[in-house]
Order: sequence, then C-alpha cells, then structure tokens
Amino acid sequence: MMKNKVGLVMGMANEYSIAYGISKSLINNGANILFTAQSDRFKQKITDMEEFKNNKVFICDVSDDNNIEQLFSSIKQEYGSIDFIVHSIAFSDRKELQGKYYNTSRSNFLNAMDISCYSLTKVCQYASSVMNNGGSIVTLTYYGSEKTVPNYNVMGVVKAALESSVRYLASDLGEFNIRVNAVSAGPIKTLASSGVGEFSKVLDYEKNRSPLQRNITKEEVGNVCTFLLSEFSSGITGEIIHVDCGCNTVGIKF
Ligand code: NAD
Repeated sequence: MMKNKVGLVMGMANEYSIAYGISKSLINNGANILFTAQSDRFKQKITDMEEFKNNKVFICDVSDDNNIEQLFSSIKQEYGSIDFIVHSIAFSDRKELQGKYYNTSRSNFLNAMDISCYSLTKVCQYASSVMNNGGSIVTLTYYGSEKTVPNYNVMGVVKAALESSVRYLASDLGEFNIRVNAVSAGPIKTLASSGVGEFSKVLDYEKNRSPLQRNITKEEVGNVCTFLLSEFSSGITGEIIHVDCGCNTVGIKF
C-alpha cells in the first residue's frame, strides 16, 4: 500500500504510543518514515528501538513556530518532498484531566489548544510546499469531542476544535490534491491517556458496551491510518473516522 512513499510521523513517545502502531503498520506496508520527537529524551527513546534505530529523527517541539519552520526546511533540503504526515500529538496538564471541566485554567486551556490543535494548522501551512500531489495527513482525535466523558475535560473541547480544523484544512488543501482526515480512536493505554483521571474505568466501560466486546488496539488504529495515508483512500478528505470497535454507535446498552 505504501511502496515508495516517504512521510513524517510526529508523536511517537514509546512502544505504547498510538504512533508506534501507526509506524509499524506503515513500515509493514512498505513506507519509509521520518520521525519527530519533542526533545532529545524522546529522540533517544526512538533510536533505542531496534526496528527504528536507523530512521531519521528531527527534534520538533510543536509549541515553537521556529521548530516547525526548521523541521520543514530541513525536510525540503534533505528529502525534497514527502507523501504523508501523521500528527499524533496532544498535551494537557494532567491536574486538569480530573474533576470539573469548569475548573480549567486559562493557561492550560490555551496551552492544550496550542499543542493539541493549533500545531496541526501550523504543520499544514507547510504542506503544499513540501508534500507531493496526492499527499495525505492524518491526526488523532477521541469521542470526548462529541459527548462528555468524565475527566477528559479540556481535551474534549480541544478535540472538537481539532476536528473542525480538519474540515477547514481539508478544504484549503484540496486544491493541491492533499487530503486531511482524523481517526477517532477508542481508548488505549498510553503515556498521554494515563494522565486522564480514572482512565481504566473508561477502558472497562468501552469494552463492555462495544459491539465487538473489546477495546481497540493501536495496531488496528495503525492499519486504518495507513489506509487513509494511502492511495486506496484517494477520495476521502475532511472526515472523522471512528476506529473504536463500534463504541460511538451505541446509544443505550442493557
Ligand atoms: P503518547 O503519550 O504516546 O503520545 C503523545 C505524544 O505527544 C508524545 O509523543 C509527546 O512527546 C507528544 N507531545 C506532547 N507535547 C508536545 C510538544 N509540545 N511538541 C511535540 N510533541 C509533543 O499518547 P497517545 O495516546 O499515543 O497520543 C497520541 C494521540 O492520540 C493524541 O492526539 C491523543 O489525544 C490521541 N488519542 C489517544 C487515545 C488514547 O486512548 N490513548 C484515544 C484517542 C486519541
């Protein structure tokens, strides 16, 4: 599916990351991957992984415009152009991923929105100049954008903005034949999700109500991302695709 395709994966912290599942699927389907890491510490984690020890890793803290500009200028210089981008990045102060949403501080609201939502817009500013015709961008979202989920709080509001952003970005980039979609993944235990209060209860709840009677895996999310990044999905853009064992489709379950 991804033979001769080169692209960027942003947000792989460790082997529990959703970006890890996506990267494995991309590689299994023939893609070449460049990574970004938030800091040297995260870069080391990637280069320590046997399967990715030879992949290029750029440092890019997405809260810094200069970092993003430098990233794309280096990519242009070293690789010319790329075919896909995976944006698998989110952040909120974990103290605000519990209790009441109305206690969200202004500073965390802005920071969470900046890192988890605006960063995709900033990345897309470079897409038309660095991506090939037929390019595809995928970001990660969660059902907490559509309905309330205990403790998800500010991140639900941010994900709603991210999903709206995906539609606007898809509209802007359509003329360059570049697509933008989001995958709304069911709950998966990762570094980021472990910061959400009572997350294990969400995992149990979703498992019990899901039509498939289990939780989704990062490998399954990875395969759908690969499809969305490949030419097999050439007519799909601006969409939020649920990959959650059907959880979002269940209204009431006795
Ligand atoms: P993760 O902790 O493995 O990945 C989050 C990544 O964001 C990390 O690599 C971290 O370095 C990066 N990041 C945070 N701040 C950054 C910054 N300033 N600059 C650059 N990178 C930064 O967790 P994950 O669960 O794999 O999260 C990946 C994406 O999937 C997030 O958007 C998350 O909201 C989304 N998601 C997760 C779940 C879940 O249940 N785990 C469900 C649906 C969607």
